[in-house]
Amino acid sequence: MELGIKSLPTEVVHRIAAGEVIDSLAAVVRELAENSLDAGATRVVVSLWPQQWRVRVADNGCGMDLTDLQQAAVAHSTSKIRSCEDLGKIASLGFRGEALHSIAQLAELEIVSRRVMLSEGWRVVFSPQGQPAQIETAAIAPGTVVTVANLFANWSSRRQGLPSPAQQMKAVQAMIWQIALCHPHVTWQVWQNDREWFTLSPGVTTHQLLPQILRQVRLSDLQEIKVEVMPHASIQAIIGLPDRCHRHRPDWVRVAVNGRMVKLPELEQTILKVTARTLPRDRYPICFLHLHVAPDQIDWNRHPAKAEIYLRQSSYWQEQITQTIEQALRISPANLPEAVHSERVGKLLKAAEAQGVYATSRSVQPASVGQEAVETEEDTPHPLIQLQAVAQVHNTYILAEHPSGLWLVEQHIAHERVLYEQLLDNWQLVPQEPPAILKSLSLAQQLQLQRLGIEVEPFGEQLWAVRTVPALLLHRDDGVEALLELSWGGDLQAAQVATACRTAIRNGTPLSLTEMQTLLDRWRSTRHPRTCPHGRPIYLSLEESALSRFFRRHWVIGKSHGI
Ligand code: ADP
Ligand code: MG
Repeated sequence: MELGIKSLPTEVVHRIAAGEVIDSLAAVVRELAENSLDAGATRVVVSLWPQQWRVRVADNGCGMDLTDLQQAAVAHSTSKIRSCEDLGKIASLGFRGEALHSIAQLAELEIVSRRVMLSEGWRVVFSPQGQPAQIETAAIAPGTVVTVANLFANWSSRRQGLPSPAQQMKAVQAMIWQIALCHPHVTWQVWQNDREWFTLSPGVTTHQLLPQILRQVRLSDLQEIKVEVMPHASIQAIIGLPDRCHRHRPDWVRVAVNGRMVKLPELEQTILKVTARTLPRDRYPICFLHLHVAPDQIDWNRHPAKAEIYLRQSSYWQEQITQTIEQALRISPANLPEAVHSERVGKLLKAAEAQGVYATSRSVQPASVGQEAVETEEDTPHPLIQLQAVAQVHNTYILAEHPSGLWLVEQHIAHERVLYEQLLDNWQLVPQEPPAILKSLSLAQQLQLQRLGIEVEPFGEQLWAVRTVPALLLHRDDGVEALLELSWGGDLQAAQVATACRTAIRNGTPLSLTEMQTLLDRWRSTRHPRTCPHGRPIYLSLEESALSRFFRRHWVIGKSHGI
């Protein structure tokens, strides 16, 4: 702000996305709150009187001296950029110098401000042209209070085009949430009709903010990760652990760039793609990504409200995001989950799986370890957790010990996850002799099998021979059922899920310690170890810290007992 507020040269005005940005109460809140953040505020108080179309935003930012204050609502006047060259290095949220001017035209605008270090504050009321109409000294702490009243009073058509003021409060709340998530160090206090409406406490990072907004989400349901990519750029991701939380709409798949939530459909699609097959059907992840990139990588002038941007090197970012999310969802010592709530423990134990009925051909053979690409500690950049098989419970759960707790891993779905990722990486169709013979296939079923690359040929009256099958289904006793299942439809991924599920080791199958260890080793190195491709949680963790709390190990009962 040292620069002072100046009018922008005409050539700069021509290069910025012109347009009316003030179209609702939420837009007023956005513009004023962003000005507060640009002024370095750490505390922002928003007061709303929707029925009066009135908004006040007070901050503890740097404030303005009288010269700047008089200039603040003049068209295209800003302290944030000076020239066309500056458009390539925008580091502030505002830069067009339009907001206060537009607000002055559409409402009554009053600003009270005191520059830090100055002993005096000023109150200025602006004319609809953005000129100071009234000036007087004011007693105020350093910072700025902007009051906007009677918005659109002389623009009745605008008011008519909007939902009722009360309904607009939803949009206002969503707007404040968005801004707060991008600036977690700020305290927000929001009032409605002179009553406190909600507050957001600051956090070291966004991680602490999200549970204040999504009430049903706990801090421990979220994984946070920050990854430095190329020089001077980073990705910060807050992602809901797929075995703990998800939503019925993709409403929390969000991307922010340099302090502002934006729509970047390519990146949102990437998030959905990476997390597909880790969640139950028709459920969506909670994922908030904040990219910090060099200002010259962004063109903010795609949209008047800066809600859409052009981000250079989009495919580079898609790749980085994929890796970041996978890294966040792995089970590594760095991101060990806290113990799950005990009611969860009860629920999960009750849901003991029905015992399997298939005679299985074991595919978890210790001998196969050598052939599988099991990652070792040395060649992975993110060390995997040490897990040691201790016992099998009910022929269904593997009891595994790790340095700070113990886990119950459900053998069938852990194996299903392993096989599914293997199939994704390598969907192999192999010849089968003698062929499998299928009866009474409809035309749709034949076409579906062919779509999956499986060859089907007539073999007689209402009989078909299948001579190539997915490698995992080769010579299985239930091969015919498996092929029929695949013929009922679904895309290749669905077929891979079905195949993995069918061939994974059944619950009810006794396993030796070596077999269990092999399975654990393969499972922990999968890309998405927390859930199976249907979205079911794979393991239940009992962390040592929770166990010691439960058994009250901190009690000092008596020295004589030797404890
Ligand atoms: P822009 O934010 O694009 O610069 P605005 O019309 O929103 O344009 O604001 C004009 C100028 O007024 C800003 O550049 C800034 O110098 C000053 N200003 C606005 N709000 C505040 C505030 N809360 N604290 C300090 N300065 C402010
Ligand atoms: Mg602004």
